[in-house]
Amino acid sequence: MNWPKEKKVLALCGGVGGAKLALGLSKILPPEQLSIAVNTADDFNHLGLRICPDLDTVTYTLAGVNNQESGWGRANESWHCMEALTELGGETWFKLGDRDLATHLFRRAQLDQGFSISQVTENLCRHLGITHSVFPMSDDQVGTEVKTDSGWLDFQRYFVEQQCQPQISQIRFVGSETAQPSPRFKQALEDNDLGCIIICPSNPFLSIDPVLAVSGIRKQLAELKKPVLAVSPVIGGKAVKGPTAKIMQELALEITPSTVVSHYADFLTGFVLDNEDAAQRDTLPASLAIQVCNTLMISLEDRISLAQACLQLAQRMS
Ligand code: GDP
Repeated sequence: MNWPKEKKVLALCGGVGGAKLALGLSKILPPEQLSIAVNTADDFNHLGLRICPDLDTVTYTLAGVNNQESGWGRANESWHCMEALTELGGETWFKLGDRDLATHLFRRAQLDQGFSISQVTENLCRHLGITHSVFPMSDDQVGTEVKTDSGWLDFQRYFVEQQCQPQISQIRFVGSETAQPSPRFKQALEDNDLGCIIICPSNPFLSIDPVLAVSGIRKQLAELKKPVLAVSPVIGGKAVKGPTAKIMQELALEITPSTVVSHYADFLTGFVLDNEDAAQRDTLPASLAIQVCNTLMISLEDRISLAQACLQLAQRMS
C-alpha cells in the first residue's frame, strides 16, 4: 500500500460499523493523515448527562477500551450505578456502565464550563491516548427522529427502548439545516492536501445521512473533485448488525449495494463491494470505480485489509 505521505484521508463515520473501519485506517495512517468526522444526531440528554453514542463508540474503539461483545460501551464494565438507580426507581432503559458514566460526567462538566462538543471530544481523546483526529460532525445540536405508526419518536427511544421494533416511514434530523460543520470538519474538507473521503460502512439512513445533512456538506462533497468512496454496509442482502436492512425494507428499498450507491449518487465516485456481492457489480453505474474484496470485519487484520483496499481504490481514482 503506497498511499502518498502528503495526502490526507477524511472518514465519515457512525457507530460500530464505522468505528471498525476507522480503527483499520488508524493502524495504517499516521495521525496527521487521518481525520474522522462522527455522527452526533444520535446524541441526547439523559439523567442530566449528554450522551454521544457514536463519538463514544469511535473513541473507545480507537483507544482499545471498547466492549467487543456488546458492540457498545466499555470493556471490563461494572453496573453498580445502574443497580442503585433501579433500587431508586430511576430510568434504566438506557444502560450506562460505571466506567462509561465517567465519560458522561466528564463531558457534562466540560460542557457546563462552556466547552463545545468538539473541545470535549478532543480532551477525551487526549486522556484516552488517541492521537488521530476525531471530531463531531457539528457543535450544534441535531436530533434524529423517526416517524412510526404512533407518530414521531426520538431516536434513542426507537433504537434502544423499543429495540427498533416500530416500522419507520420517515426519518428527520431536527436542527440540521442550521447546524454548521464543526471547525475541524470544515478544515478537513477545505484542506488542499485532502486526498479522499471514505464513507465508512455505517447505516446510510441513521448514521451517514445526518452527517450529510449538516449545512452545506452534501453540496460540498458533490463539488469536491476528489475521490469520495463508500464501503457497502450490506452484504448478501443483509446488514451485518443493526436495523439497516429492516429500514431499507420499510422504506420500500431493495437491500442491495445498488440502493446504497443510488442513495449517495450525487457525490459518490467509488464503491467497495463485498466478494459475496461480486455478481452485482454490473448493476452499478459504469462511471463508478469499484473494488471487490472482503468487507466483513471480524478480526483486526480484516479491518486493516479493508482500510488498505479503500486506499488502493482511492489511489486508483486519483
Ligand atoms: P451503529 O450506529 O452502531 O448502528 O453503527 P453504524 O451505523 O456505524 O453501523 C451499522 C451498519 O454497519 C450496518 O449497516 C452494518 O451492516 C454495517 N456493518 C457493521 N459491521 C460491518 C462489517 O464488518 N462490514 C460491513 N461491510 N458492514 C458492517
